[in-house]
Amino acid sequence: MSIDVAALRVLINEADRAPWTAHPDGLVWSEQIGDPVSGSAQVENAVFIAEARNVMPALCDELEAFQPVIFSDGSQMFIHECRHIEWWNEKAQGPVNDQGCDACESSPFADGWQPVYVRKAADR
Ligand SMILES: [Zn+2]
Repeated sequence: MSIDVAALRVLINEADRAPWTAHPDGLVWSEQIGDPVSGSAQVENAVFIAEARNVMPALCDELEAFQPVIFSDGSQMFIHECRHIEWWNEKAQGPVNDQGCDACESSPFADGWQPVYVRKAADR
């Protein structure tokens, strides 16, 4: 099942704003108290709820398909903002963002290094 992200964003934008809350009576309520979403006549909200149930399994499959790149010794692949890639073992070497970058010679800063994720090949 392919996921049409653009179509999902249209549904999101046409429905009432989040947060929504599920109540024991079976209705879904928007952030405005007394404004039930699933019981409302606003068809955009009903369409959103129905499509959410239909597409969530594929979205979860897609998220799970992405895995961090971790070597057998626990080292993980990280990419710096300058696009330099480096293996780093946070258990043995400490937090990756406590180190600077040799490629761009930057000093340590939060979120300069991000883990690299790869997508598993789809089943054939
Ligand atoms: Zn760098």
